[in-house]
Amino acid sequence: MLKKELNIFTFNDLLEHFPYRHVDKTKLGLIRDISPQTEFIQVAGKLVSKEIAGEKRGRRLVGKLYDGSGLLELVWFQGINWVDKTLETGADYLVYGRTGFFNGSPQITHPEIESYTPAKAGGSSFLEPVYPTTEKLKAKGLGGRQLGKLTLQLFDILKERDLPENLPPGVLQSLQLMGRYEAFRQVHFPANAELYEKALRRLKLEELFLAQVRLNLIKSRRHRFSKGIVFSQVGDLFNTFYKSHLPFALTGAQKRVLREIRSDTAHGRQMNRLLQGDVGSGKTIVALLCMLLAADNGYQACMMAPTEILANQHFNGVKELLKDMPVPVELLTGSTKKAARNKILARLEDGSLPFLIGTHAIIEDAVKFKNLGFAVVDEQHRFGVAQRARLWQKATTPPHVLVMTATPIPRTLAMTAYGDLDYSVIDELPPGRKPITTAHRFEYDRAKVMDFIKEEVAKGRQAYIIFPLIEESEKLDYENLMQGYENVKAFFPEPRYYISMVHGRQKPDVKDTNMQRFVSGDTQIMVSTTVIEVGVNVPNATVMVVESTEKFGLSQLHQLRGRVGRGSDKSFCILLTGMKPTREAKERIKIMCATNDGFKIAEKDLELRGPGDIEGTRQSGELNFKLASILQDKQLLQVAREMAERVLDADPDLVSAENQPLKAYLQSQKGKTAWSKIS
Ligand code: ADP
Ligand code: MG
Repeated sequence: MLKKELNIFTFNDLLEHFPYRHVDKTKLGLIRDISPQTEFIQVAGKLVSKEIAGEKRGRRLVGKLYDGSGLLELVWFQGINWVDKTLETGADYLVYGRTGFFNGSPQITHPEIESYTPAKAGGSSFLEPVYPTTEKLKAKGLGGRQLGKLTLQLFDILKERDLPENLPPGVLQSLQLMGRYEAFRQVHFPANAELYEKALRRLKLEELFLAQVRLNLIKSRRHRFSKGIVFSQVGDLFNTFYKSHLPFALTGAQKRVLREIRSDTAHGRQMNRLLQGDVGSGKTIVALLCMLLAADNGYQACMMAPTEILANQHFNGVKELLKDMPVPVELLTGSTKKAARNKILARLEDGSLPFLIGTHAIIEDAVKFKNLGFAVVDEQHRFGVAQRARLWQKATTPPHVLVMTATPIPRTLAMTAYGDLDYSVIDELPPGRKPITTAHRFEYDRAKVMDFIKEEVAKGRQAYIIFPLIEESEKLDYENLMQGYENVKAFFPEPRYYISMVHGRQKPDVKDTNMQRFVSGDTQIMVSTTVIEVGVNVPNATVMVVESTEKFGLSQLHQLRGRVGRGSDKSFCILLTGMKPTREAKERIKIMCATNDGFKIAEKDLELRGPGDIEGTRQSGELNFKLASILQDKQLLQVAREMAERVLDADPDLVSAENQPLKAYLQSQKGKTAWSKIS
């Protein structure tokens, strides 16, 4: 039962099933004192009545508790029959919960409730743990407080040596941390609030520190022991392109990142670098220059994009940039025809094709390179870690890997999610970009919004109108899109206007044709779902209209907005909503209207949604802490990171005597520490 419901298999699991609060049964409030400002309260009293009221969805159990000062209503909408059975009119109960008012009288919905023996009160203050549990377990009598009894019994038999210290003495000392055994004890059964806080701090730091040590070990091992390809020279290809064919001067940030990569690839260790840069910051050209560097040293290079549209766009862009260079480049996607594909595969294998651009078709087994030296993964969040690993296997010495993302990741998240990668940021936009004006409009303004698009189109510009399609297969969303398309068509009749439509249900070649017609300016309006969210580059587009903005997350909105403002003309982003957007939607819109800064938006997004949702590919493991939160414990995370670096700088292989407990502990955590890989 414990196993299935709470994943508790061992003593250790029970130990790490932490209480989410403690109650001090001697501290009781009075019902009379409950005011609209009260948030939570604990009261004890007699259950004077209970009855089941209402029907269907309104069906509820209502109890009345009297504590001598007033009456408190207790309300249950769920588990009515079970709660009804366990409660007894006339008995004494201890009740805790969030208070509210209904028709002027105080009430608690779904309170925590247990029988109460008044004799217990007035004794010494005792902080009793309350554990998260499930309705099923409660029904079997294993409520949050019963779990506490189990844990208490566990501490009767656990000795200090059963929970040995795993942090180095230096760390304990400089951070003044409580010992491990003591911390576990105090976090479950604190003697007082202060000791609880100290225990909590210790255990959170332990979690964060161990995670940082693991990530840093992987990184430092790679730095020291990985065999990487050496790009010993910057040759003719790079230099000629840089001097004669680069269409603009690089920004300072682009130059800095190039230097970082140059230095990574010159020293014989494998590079694994995450490159972050806001939309439009110019990551592609940096990638291309790196690919030329590889070619200068006799190696092949590839660039992988998450969608056909993007792969196509990169291919066309790169081909154009390289048109006067002696470097052939080919495109490989799922829709490359068989004959062409076979030719490409043969040229990759005999080494006569230096550059390949494509979708994940690139990592299929049939694709063999003669000597792949540099791999670029664009817009990485659509790629899983496993897919990236397959790239490495394309060569005996793993190629250098540059992972590029336009979804800015807040520093704290990057530190934990990507702590094993090296990290570069392009934090400067190319000169001359005009900030995009963002505005919120309601449904009833639609006609005005369409008129605005007409004005822009009359100036020769283009516009996107984006519909939500969270699940490409959802029929309803699809119908919405079709309906929306018909609406747009009514505003923009042919032959004066032409419209492209792109969505996930189209065949790749249809998608591509529609996209190309928009890119080349044959169509002025692009009606699309979020398939164009990342990367698409049409500098002449100046209006981005987002339909049903409520349905989009912040980062997604920022990505969408990044599709405009890519040329020299003033651009606009219009966020359409229904009459009554939710509070969260309003918050997102407010942020979007207030800033164009992707990093600020990412921070907010993290705050609003939590880390799990943002980073789909890596949310397991590194981000799932039991106690620590990368949102609330930013400072602890920073401290843990510094400590981990200090320990590993002094003793990179953890061989010193004082680091043995740490090493042993990491080794005992199979699955979490990839020790086999790193030692
Ligand atoms: P992203 O980082 O979003 O992938 P891109 O690489 O697509 O951005 O670049 C966006 C646009 O900016 C492209 O049209 C590109 O040619 C242009 N660009 C890149 N770097 C510079 C620069 N240093 N100066 C001027 N324009 C640049
Ligand atoms: Mg890009």
